[in-house]
Amino acid sequence: MNALRKHVIQPIIDCWSLLVGLKITGKYFCQPLITVHYPRQVIDDENLSTYGGHVELIGMPKDPATPKCISCMMCVTNCPSNCLKVVKSKPPVTTPEQEQAWKEAEERGEKVTRPKGPKYPAKFMYDYTLCSLCGTCIDNCPANTLRFSNNIYWVATSRKEMHIDLLARLREKATDLSAPAPKTEAKPAAAEKEA
Ligand code: SF4
Ligand code: SF4
Repeated sequence: MNALRKHVIQPIIDCWSLLVGLKITGKYFCQPLITVHYPRQVIDDENLSTYGGHVELIGMPKDPATPKCISCMMCVTNCPSNCLKVVKSKPPVTTPEQEQAWKEAEERGEKVTRPKGPKYPAKFMYDYTLCSLCGTCIDNCPANTLRFSNNIYWVATSRKEMHIDLLARLREKATDLSAPAPKTEAKPAAAEKEA
């Protein structure tokens, strides 16, 4: 019985397993390529939108260079990898005359409203080397001002470059969007296949 299993049944099972594997390989071998030949080809927008790259800030609709961030620190507190650093904006500098006028007003029992700093942060640093792309910061942001970027072509040659100033990046992106699109010979892969 053992000899039958060893010399007949087991080889049949092994061959069947091999055939199943070859069937799957053959199926994908005959399908069109889904990779692109960069830089001759680039990823089309539809596929790019599903890519989850590093975390980035979202700007205000009317002012794309300024984030919707309200410096609440929820993302910093909830990040399990401690890779975000947010510094709140300071209130504007006041003059001694202003301070004196407010003091006198308070002494008279008047309500004084001192100028406050902007809600958006003065600094927003992100260490991509530590980020696990867990999305906790994005899920916990009450202002919906964080997202994964679709920055698929971004490369860094050192760890230092992966410490990203997200405010500077937002400003750069806003400037790029307002500038005319650069001329490029690379085509989206889908367009090239259709041509
Ligand atoms: S995606 Fe996760 S690890 Fe990365 S910054 Fe956000 S909370 Fe931190
Ligand atoms: S990005 Fe969102 S969670 Fe983080 S400080 Fe700004 S508003 Fe708060």
